[in-house]
Amino acid sequence: MTKFVRFDAGQGPEYGVLEEDRIFPVRGSIFGTWEKEEKIFKLQEVRLLAPCMPRKVVCIGVNYKEVVTGKGDPMPQEPVIFLKPDTSVIGPGEAIVSPAGVKELNYEAELVVVIKDKTKDVAVEDAKNYVLGYTCGNDITAKDFMEKGKPWTKAKGYDTFMPIGPCIVSGLDGDNLNIRMYHNGTMTQNSNTSDMVFNVSQIISYVSHIMTLNPGDVISTGTPPGKGNLKPGDVIEAEIEGIGRLKNVVK
Ligand code: MG
Repeated sequence: MTKFVRFDAGQGPEYGVLEEDRIFPVRGSIFGTWEKEEKIFKLQEVRLLAPCMPRKVVCIGVNYKEVVTGKGDPMPQEPVIFLKPDTSVIGPGEAIVSPAGVKELNYEAELVVVIKDKTKDVAVEDAKNYVLGYTCGNDITAKDFMEKGKPWTKAKGYDTFMPIGPCIVSGLDGDNLNIRMYHNGTMTQNSNTSDMVFNVSQIISYVSHIMTLNPGDVISTGTPPGKGNLKPGDVIEAEIEGIGRLKNVVK
């Protein structure tokens, strides 16, 4: 199991490997071959950034069985997918900016898959070979702009609406991880990724038959029940077993 981070120690963004509270910068590419450098930074001395810079963010909606059954809806027959722009991505500790006039700003804790290799038309059985690892995500949504039957791009596409982090962890079983959200310190979402309608492999295969996924692209796999409303000043923390907590504040 390896924990990858992207960080700034004062000389711009670099990738590293996190071991307890120490960061080893890496030579090479975390998506290909890499090796640890000798020098060490302390975690407290650096600023963690979004752990990768995706060129596209693919999101899955309506993907927890408990959400679907709670509404009394039939299970989706295929994944519901949408895109967020790369400019929606922020890292741990960065502010989620609530657009002026928005009254209903929702949070959604989500498991995020980070793609390792160019991924196109892969079979379900092979899909996990294309995963670098997993991180936490928060699919921020301006519910004011979600109208039935209309695209979700405005509601979900604002700058800062896709916090990811704090690290990318390889070697986890993405299909069986506890996932939680803490809103101002109170747990408001509490589930396990085993409740997903479409599992990680099915999602990757499905998306790869539509579009080519590139190294560093991410897929956010949907949220369990309990999503809720944010207001300026709120602290929101998405937590996934084996990864850690992604903490952001609302501005
Ligand atoms: Mg979502």
